[in-house]
Amino acid sequence: MTDQRIRSIVIVGGGTAGWMAAATFAKLLGPDYARITLVESDAIGIVGVGEATIPQMGIFNRMLGIDEDEFVRATKGSFKLGIEFRDWGRIGDRYYHPFGKFGVDMKGVSFHAYWLRAHLAGAPERLDDYSLNALAGDAQKFMRPVDAGNSPLSQIVYAFHFDAGLYARYLRGYGEAHGVVRQEGKVVDVARRAADGFIEAVVLESGERIEGDLFIDCSGFRGLLIEQTLGAGYEDWSHWLPCDRAVAVPCSGVPGITPYTRSTARTAGWQWRIPLQHRIGNGHVFSTRFMSEDEATAILLANLDGEPLADPRMVPFRAGHRRKFWDRNVVALGLASGFMEPLESTSIWLIQSGLARLMNMFPDRSFAQGTIDRYNRVMTHEYEQIRDFLILHYHATERDDSPFWNYCRTMDVPDRLKEKMRCFADYGRTFRDEDELFNETSWFAVMHGQRLRPRTNDPLAEVMALDETRARLASIRAAIVNRLRFLR
Ligand SMILES: Cc1cc2nc3c(=O)[nH]c(=O)nc-3n(C[C@H](O)[C@H](O)[C@H](O)COP(=O)(O)OP(=O)(O)OC[C@H]3O[C@@H](n4cnc5c(N)ncnc54)[C@H](O)[C@@H]3O)c2cc1C
Repeated sequence: MTDQRIRSIVIVGGGTAGWMAAATFAKLLGPDYARITLVESDAIGIVGVGEATIPQMGIFNRMLGIDEDEFVRATKGSFKLGIEFRDWGRIGDRYYHPFGKFGVDMKGVSFHAYWLRAHLAGAPERLDDYSLNALAGDAQKFMRPVDAGNSPLSQIVYAFHFDAGLYARYLRGYGEAHGVVRQEGKVVDVARRAADGFIEAVVLESGERIEGDLFIDCSGFRGLLIEQTLGAGYEDWSHWLPCDRAVAVPCSGVPGITPYTRSTARTAGWQWRIPLQHRIGNGHVFSTRFMSEDEATAILLANLDGEPLADPRMVPFRAGHRRKFWDRNVVALGLASGFMEPLESTSIWLIQSGLARLMNMFPDRSFAQGTIDRYNRVMTHEYEQIRDFLILHYHATERDDSPFWNYCRTMDVPDRLKEKMRCFADYGRTFRDEDELFNETSWFAVMHGQRLRPRTNDPLAEVMALDETRARLASIRAAIVNRLRFLR
């Protein structure tokens, strides 16, 4: 048997995706297994947005062995307990999609089924009143979970906001300390093997040629290797996710860091607000079919907490993904692989997930096609599941105040989402498909928050008498409110 091991990995791109990949390979493979080179061009720079995450980020940090306090300090980060949605179901509405659970499941039935039953019977408490994360958001408080048995304090789930530029810099430090070789320079040519089109080397402006066995395309939207060289093709979802621009601007902060991302629906899209230690990140995601760039920029600038700290920057995009995430000896990660708007902060997660799956299916130089096919199928599935969750936010709304919302409310949606919405309409039930990222609680929070209303409650919630349900809900709520005082 000949040695078929991958000896050299070349990562093109030094944004969040490139440095997450470099850090992962450095940690899990090490430079003795394969030479790890990252090529990036300061002249091109990084996209510089992408500052809100989901709790899975903690798993990534732990995998790298990163000290969380140091990471938050270095990236001028803050803690995130969920997302606050404003004006989505109707103008004036407000709900959280908090991390973690609502209340406590009882008798094998989910808490939200009991809550829905009491709610349909007239109980006034909001679903958010049963989430410590949501109440902590309102109170602008945070703490990490502690080991306290069944206490709600054990169940705090959190993620991070961070400065994207500082994060890439932080991971670069980590990667270089673990043997990654950084090569500054612009890739101007790509050399391919005549026989099968595999990539042999990237060629820099300086003329330098960097050869590799495995190439990771982290070059951003352009997809230098996966698209411009290999022509993987693009699955376009802009008919379901019609926003195609973001205009972004940082502004000065205000006292007190809100421990959540805010998403406020606007007439042709929505605006994000991400609080950091030194500034607030803001952006207006919108559809140019329904709003001009000038109008979108004016709306953004009129809705900032503080003074703008830079000129607004326009970022065009198209919702969807490459038809092949992995083609021959190229795996695309980050924006090079596809993009869905940051409504649920899922893009950095998709980098992490792509990396985890790649490590699971790590190739040798024979690049067995079965493994590549599986990777592509699994990643496509993951993209589709997240896509449906995002579409839900737009489609399940009562807003009829603009052509944009009328389009979204009445558009045809994917069958799987239709089925999920029908199940909710029947009995208020939600489902997590296989290893789907968003669980039943998340689907319930957003479906209810977006004003979907079920015909009746889950029949299984009637395993408990209504009076007892009310009493148990009251005591769960009291326990949560009581624990709130431990947060700072
Ligand atoms: C508006 C917007 C908001 C977002 N918000 C979120 C969010 O809140 N949460 C989240 O999880 N994700 C978010 N994302 C996604 C997130 O920003 C990206 O997933 C993440 O930043 C990864 O980007 P990247 O590394 O793939 O690309 P980039 O940051 O664009 O990096 C590309 C790299 O490739 C290099 N490069 C390109 N061409 C060449 C060349 N020819 N030669 C050499 N080097 C080259 C560049 O120099 C750069 O280093 C958002 C994205 C957008 C567009």
